[in-house]
Amino acid sequence: MIRSILYNKIFLLFVVFVGFSNFYGQKKFTLVLDAGHGGSDTGATRTYPDLGPVQEKDITLGIVLKLGRMLEKNKEYKVIYTRKVDEYPSLTYRTNLANKSDADLFISVHVNSSSSRSATAQGTETFVQGPNQNKTNLDVAKAENDVIFLDDQDRENFASYNPNSPESLIALKIQQSKYLEASLIIGGLVEDNFVKKDKRLSRGVKQENLHVLRMNAMPSILIETGFVNNYDDARYISSDEGQQAIAESIYNAIVSYKKMVDRNVKKPEPEKPAEQPLKNDFRILLMSTPNKYSTDDPALKGLKYILTIKEGGLYKYYYGTTNYASVRDTNLKTAKDAGFRNASAISFVPNQSLGAGYYTLEVYSGKGKLDSKSPILKTIPDLIRNKENGVFYYTYGKYKSLEEAVKAQKDLEQKGIANTVIEKKLK
Ligand SMILES: [Zn+2]
Repeated sequence: MIRSILYNKIFLLFVVFVGFSNFYGQKKFTLVLDAGHGGSDTGATRTYPDLGPVQEKDITLGIVLKLGRMLEKNKEYKVIYTRKVDEYPSLTYRTNLANKSDADLFISVHVNSSSSRSATAQGTETFVQGPNQNKTNLDVAKAENDVIFLDDQDRENFASYNPNSPESLIALKIQQSKYLEASLIIGGLVEDNFVKKDKRLSRGVKQENLHVLRMNAMPSILIETGFVNNYDDARYISSDEGQQAIAESIYNAIVSYKKMVDRNVKKPEPEKPAEQPLKNDFRILLMSTPNKYSTDDPALKGLKYILTIKEGGLYKYYYGTTNYASVRDTNLKTAKDAGFRNASAISFVPNQSLGAGYYTLEVYSGKGKLDSKSPILKTIPDLIRNKENGVFYYTYGKYKSLEEAVKAQKDLEQKGIANTVIEKKLK
């Protein structure tokens, strides 16, 4: 139920933009189907005594061809394949093809593999673009030089489209957040079908920084159909029946998604204004704890885009940054789904200077002092050293705003010093 409420909310926002091109162009609903890997790039592979070699490139092609055959039977769909045989088109070729084709939806099919040798990881997951990569999508859209009108009003406003004008940039930014919202919808439908129709284990819809998603100027998803190093998954995804069931689930999701789009083209929502950005940034507070975790620690449950801010001796872990209410709500749901039941959205005033106090970077903490030959001390000689309750803390720099501290943190990362923590020091 939570999901359908979220859908409705998100849906209102993207209806106008998705509907427009179909309504005016009367064009077919164009899908780019991308079978991951191929040719010399086998992708994830595992050989089993009874199954023989199970190769990602074969499974993805099998599923995509089955899915394409179903879609091609329906005259409303136009299907474009990035590959139909065992060959390797580059990632750039795949995204260029999608952008050139003016596609309505991009679906990339893959097979997962877990790093653990225990092979306990199992099930499906679907990726959409990460929350912080709107800028790249924006640049792609600009380069495509192809403004998408959000509604009639925009059509007038942007009649003389100039990709570098501030107005056009705002329109494109809104359009980018629509892609994300539409991608979340189709991703949710795919995973729903896997669970309800195929009784698969779903690991959910996640945001990730992946080339094929980042470089596409359209709603895009990447489906991990199962784990090659899990025997049950491997047997299922390498079988004809398993691939057929997966293709049908994706097909059902596409049909439902298109119905949502069509229904709203015929019966447009009365004057739903496009979502405007909020004044403040929002981050999702996952937890406040005296424990310090690095960003890949299991305690963070695989969530990416973590910002850690230390305050009053506690480490606060924040997920995602956005100034769109819909993305904020989605991020909060992602955090709760990941297991952070008490997660909450926290508002940040952008570029706010601390009146009394400053931000600094905690570069190192530990029971022992840093060795004088430590690469950290070599890179930053002017560290400030403190000792509290038997723990040594090394900090660096003073910054008035969080944004300045984040920038300094990125600069240090470039120099090879990772996992620093921003500390807020109030006087
Ligand atoms: Zn893959």
